[in-house]
Amino acid sequence: MTQVTARYYDGKTSQQREVVIWAEPGRLRVIGDGVDFSCAIAEVRPSPRVGNTRRHLRFADGSLCETEDNDAVDRIFAGLPSEAPGRLIHLWESRFGYAALALALTAAALWAGITYGIPALAKQVAFSLPPSTEKALGRDALAGLDRVLLSPTRLPAARREKLRALFSRLASGLEGAGDYRLELRSSKRLGANALALPSGVVVLTDQLVRLAHSDDEIAAVLAHEIGHLRHRHALRRLLQDSATVLLVAAVTGDLTSIVSLASALPAMLLQAKYSRDFEREADEFALDTMQRHGIPAESFAAILLRIEQRRGASADVPDYLSTHPATRERAARSRAAR
Ligand SMILES: [Zn+2]
Repeated sequence: MTQVTARYYDGKTSQQREVVIWAEPGRLRVIGDGVDFSCAIAEVRPSPRVGNTRRHLRFADGSLCETEDNDAVDRIFAGLPSEAPGRLIHLWESRFGYAALALALTAAALWAGITYGIPALAKQVAFSLPPSTEKALGRDALAGLDRVLLSPTRLPAARREKLRALFSRLASGLEGAGDYRLELRSSKRLGANALALPSGVVVLTDQLVRLAHSDDEIAAVLAHEIGHLRHRHALRRLLQDSATVLLVAAVTGDLTSIVSLASALPAMLLQAKYSRDFEREADEFALDTMQRHGIPAESFAAILLRIEQRRGASADVPDYLSTHPATRERAARSRAAR
């Protein structure tokens, strides 16, 4: 027979009385100073067990008992269906193993969110953002780069015309490519480089034009960058990075990273290492486009190889290869296969 010491409140006054609860089969008997009654266990409502907080047993007449003896209460009510949820909460709260498991699950959910959820969301947002918003982003990005890194092109007018015509040819026939445009710039610091910005802008440096041995090589780079435009990679990358900062800040409560987010946007555009998936998408697009225009596939590997050989020691600004890591691997693999 289970016996529990408890404090009894009659439910009408604040008076508290020490009592002992005796559990008999199917019934409870409460005995103490001026208290002596018994009732059916089925009519008593115990509060759920939460960690080791005090339990209340509520009786039909509005009176209640309060006790710290959780285990005894559990024994009394064992097998009664109403107790099951409370016991589950207690299990989760009191066992370190479960707590660690819950923590691991949270971390896994966070990881999955960052790895799969955010890219999927960013893709959806990038493709449903009004064109005016993306245009404004692209305009700001180009203006920012013009201020700090780019200077006007020094290529002769005829050469510029030829490159623009090449770009238009590669982009022709693509849905929504009417807004795509090529911006020619000179940049000592960026070196031989090409960037795809939000809103359909491809920036190509004079340095890359001079490094190329043929227009096929330039076409290969442009086709790859148009591939990034088609899939809105710059915008998606921007959205992903911002969302990741927000999610991590929300979960960890560390808000300092958000403050630096706004000021970091232009740098993020430039530094963004495209993921392997993005590079693969851009590569697939480039190979398709090159094939359609009769441009040999090895042109791309050839220009990448030449960029690599020219690679200077100044690493303050990311160069084309460091922002296109997977492409570089691909070029190396295609060279090795031959
Ligand atoms: Zn790329």
